[in-house]
Amino acid sequence: MNRKELLHGILLLPALAAGIAAASTGTAQAKGTKAQFKYQDHPNGKSKCSGCTLFIPNKNAKLPGTCKVVEGAISPNGWCTAFSPKS
Ligand code: SF4
Repeated sequence: MNRKELLHGILLLPALAAGIAAASTGTAQAKGTKAQFKYQDHPNGKSKCSGCTLFIPNKNAKLPGTCKVVEGAISPNGWCTAFSPKS
């Protein structure tokens, strides 16, 4: 390896590390908006967030919970197009 190749490798390493870090954190926490998933704060027939595998209930049952894929406060009586029924 000559001096030019060594210098090129040294310059590329930080950029490569930053790219890997950005890719790994960007995909793990991304949620969609309520509009993207056509979220509504009332059930769709018998389907509602409390019966969805993606719903995360609040410890205080009187308060809204959250969702693994939709951002913001989520009503247990809400619904969206990503509804995934519990079996
Ligand atoms: S995916 Fe949709 S239906 Fe399921 S908990 Fe989230 S907002 Fe509610």
